[in-house]
Amino acid sequence: MSEPAKSTPEKPCPICGKPAVEKYRPFCSSRCADIDLHRWLSGSYAIPAAEDDDEDGDAPPLAPDPPRRG
Ligand SMILES: [Zn+2]
Repeated sequence: MSEPAKSTPEKPCPICGKPAVEKYRPFCSSRCADIDLHRWLSGSYAIPAAEDDDEDGDAPPLAPDPPRRG
């Protein structure tokens, strides 16, 4: 019989490098999960508005044209 591949390779906590706990995966504790969350939030709030993202003109206009009444 073949062995069931049930045991997945445990990845270390991306914050402190400790073995991750299933409850807080991929982190080792709620503390590290919280740290990562704050990092993510602060990172998303501090977006450097320096480069123009001209990918495919997919960005909708910020200021729509107001209805013009003649
Ligand atoms: Zn950790």
